[in-house]
Amino acid sequence: MSCVTKTQVVRAYRFALDATPSQVEILRRYANASRAAFNFALGMKTASHERWKRGRDPLVAADMDMAEAKKKAPKVRIPRKPQVHRHFIATKGKGPIGPLRQGEERRTPYPWWEGVNANSFQEAFFDADAAWKNWLDSMTGKRAGAPVGYPRFKRKGSRESFRLTNTAVRFAGYRRLWIGGGGGQAAFTVRLHEPARRLVRLLDAGQARILRATIARDGHRWFAAVVVEEIAVLPNRPTRRQANAGRVGVDLGVKSAAAFSDPVVLAHGAPGVLELANPRHVRNTEKKLARAQRVASRRFVKGAQKQSKGYHEAKARVAKLHAQLAARRASTQHLLTRRLVEQYAEVALEKLMVKNMTRSAKGSAENPGKNVRQKAGLNRAILDVGFGEIRRQIEYKAAWYGSSTRYVGTYFPSSKTCSNCHWKNKELTLADRVFKCTQCGMIMDRDANAAQMIKKHAQ
Ligand SMILES: [Zn+2]
Repeated sequence: MSCVTKTQVVRAYRFALDATPSQVEILRRYANASRAAFNFALGMKTASHERWKRGRDPLVAADMDMAEAKKKAPKVRIPRKPQVHRHFIATKGKGPIGPLRQGEERRTPYPWWEGVNANSFQEAFFDADAAWKNWLDSMTGKRAGAPVGYPRFKRKGSRESFRLTNTAVRFAGYRRLWIGGGGGQAAFTVRLHEPARRLVRLLDAGQARILRATIARDGHRWFAAVVVEEIAVLPNRPTRRQANAGRVGVDLGVKSAAAFSDPVVLAHGAPGVLELANPRHVRNTEKKLARAQRVASRRFVKGAQKQSKGYHEAKARVAKLHAQLAARRASTQHLLTRRLVEQYAEVALEKLMVKNMTRSAKGSAENPGKNVRQKAGLNRAILDVGFGEIRRQIEYKAAWYGSSTRYVGTYFPSSKTCSNCHWKNKELTLADRVFKCTQCGMIMDRDANAAQMIKKHAQ
């Protein structure tokens, strides 16, 4: 009796690094090179784009329709990674590192490539391609979602990160990550904060393959997100326990992070619960972060050449709290999503459009939104719980555990309908925390009622 399928999946593993101070210097150099390489590629693209505009503008000035002018303007090719890379190789010159032949001078117009594995800036060239494409696709309507602006240059002080492909990164034992050298910098290994035993075993057994790794600073710490392709053994149906439990309806909410139609065991050995409260530590960190941001902006001196030590300290604290908050939210989400798919054969959810909900509060100048304050609070909470991320996790984890997802539509009135008799309470507002049915007399927590509705009506 076979109840598993083998599938290739792409999965990311994140490791905190215990980099030594001198290694941190190298990592920062890599990040700096990656940023500069991105800007180098973007600079070539924008220059070509400007050249094209110089051909188009006289046509518009001569009263040609914009669409027509765009078509008639002389074509200019926007360079992509291969051209960018060729141009880079042709112009990079000789750096101050490595032996020189007689008569050669040490000179380079881009000192950033020195002491860095070439792989990191090649990846940055690809990133510039992606940024350009996203903007173009967004403008021409090929890309759904929020509009993507014109690609911007990465400034000093933007997030420090760089990416390497599998030629330049691998594990050295369970406890170290090997990073390839280049440009005069020797390869080196960074210690992992926690051993990567499971992944390294998979790699050693040939059941996984590293695709790439992004190494980035988050707050005070450096992390490596290693993306691997691995052979996953997936159950192709729920276990008997999951099948017996059947379906659970989940209302991702505001008052609590989630309400369930049936009990969910969140901590091993603990009894099942009907809701996951919005974690207080998240809210506390949020408050601290807001305070730290105020301190930083108070200490910022506009127009100053150099900011004070106090300002830099405040900024470091902001970064640290940001990282802490993200980690805390992520761990709550992972716990919730995993427990749901482990325990139930089907997880029913609402197909909410987070973007629409967050946009509606302010309204427009002609049509100002109602209850702006109340909605703004709600919207923030929605973003906090990360609805989209939770749904994404439930979907992919469901496949790992032989579970599956079901949805009710975007406009399904799950909160406004009595889950017992289907009477609709049209007057129910966001402030009403309890659903009272005037038809059958049922009284239930608003979110619990919604979870019941979702369970019953998801398809
Ligand atoms: Zn009722």
